[in-house]
Amino acid sequence: MQSQKPYLESMPDENGYFGKFGGAFIPPQLEEPFREIREAYEKLSKSHEYLHELRKIRKHYQGRPTPVYYAKNLSDFCGGGQIYLKREDLNHMGAHKLNHCMAEALLAKYLGKKKLIAETGAGQHGVALATAAAYFGLECEIHMGEVDIAKEHPNVVRMKILGAKVVPATHGLKTLKEAVDSAFEAYLADTDTQMFAIGSVVGPHPFPRMVRDFQSVVGFEAKEQFFEMTGKLPDHAVACVGGGSNAMGLFSGFIEDPVALHGVEPLGRGAKLGEHAATLTYGEEGVMHGFNSIMLKDAEGNPAPVHSIGSGIDYPSVGPEHAYLRDIGRTTVGTCNDDDAINAFYKLSQHEGIIPALESAHAVAYAMKLAKTHPKDAILVNLSGRGDKDIDYVVEHYPIPQK
Ligand SMILES: *Cc1c(COP(=O)(O)O)cnc(C)c1O
Repeated sequence: MQSQKPYLESMPDENGYFGKFGGAFIPPQLEEPFREIREAYEKLSKSHEYLHELRKIRKHYQGRPTPVYYAKNLSDFCGGGQIYLKREDLNHMGAHKLNHCMAEALLAKYLGKKKLIAETGAGQHGVALATAAAYFGLECEIHMGEVDIAKEHPNVVRMKILGAKVVPATHGLKTLKEAVDSAFEAYLADTDTQMFAIGSVVGPHPFPRMVRDFQSVVGFEAKEQFFEMTGKLPDHAVACVGGGSNAMGLFSGFIEDPVALHGVEPLGRGAKLGEHAATLTYGEEGVMHGFNSIMLKDAEGNPAPVHSIGSGIDYPSVGPEHAYLRDIGRTTVGTCNDDDAINAFYKLSQHEGIIPALESAHAVAYAMKLAKTHPKDAILVNLSGRGDKDIDYVVEHYPIPQK
């Protein structure tokens, strides 16, 4: 039998669907600009020049490849399987987000755009995009809810230092949803000189595909590095899931291999609506922010309030590819609550000298449990970011434990 097209080439389909999930639910005025982005991406993703430029940036500016590290002390402490870390925390600016922001900015540059525009919740995407804009000499405008601006002061300062303009969203609840509305409105005012740059594998087609492809460098590198270290594939690959970009990045390297893929969602303070952001675990099908996926809804069917100590993973929807892969049984979706994430945060810090982002700590906590129940297995975790941004919050709310 003729072999099928590789998964990453055949998914999503030409309309951006992963099974029934994905698509582009956008106002008519956005159809043309999104078509421009889609066509440019289709062309550039096959362009030698574009890919060469991207490789150069990753090596000389971002510091790729990031290492894979065998966390022996943590593994010994868990007393079971072996835990390996893909060190995305060692990326320039301390997280995986620059992988797609640099590629999006390069795309904008090729399209002749002058300005990058986006929304941000906790500010992480805004900081990464402001970094990319500075590198490429582009303007950058970040929309952020007024409530989030007050809450995430250090990231607001970072964006401003990097030369970005931060625009407060002052209507409604003044958080992420309003920031999305505000950013889209500003983008609509001028789609000729501005490009919208989405911060995860979410939003209308082609962003879930594009951002996945840009992040897939994580999985491809990790596969090669892990094989070089051990002569085999890992048994498990684990990543936290907010929108799902760092997870799709890691999973992309192993999607057609006999490797169990685990997405870890934030269970926050518990299973009650409003106390968590475990979308795939508790959500239902629905359209939000321009794509069909699984989402957490309130009684009126609107995006529900969410909570997690990992401010980059408290999102009431999830990338459509994650909904699809879970549906077909290719991935397993697990959860980790705030307390277990804090425990993993301190354990990794004290046993390995690595302070993880609170988001990444969710994946580490899950891997620690997996190691206990699977003593013979090798577990590869995507350490999506470093935890410097979280230390003040953590020590204020959770006393530093005795080692
Ligand atoms: C933003 C962020 C995440 C969550 O985003 P995904 O798109 O789900 O990967 C995870 N970890 C860190 C460090 C982040 O900054």
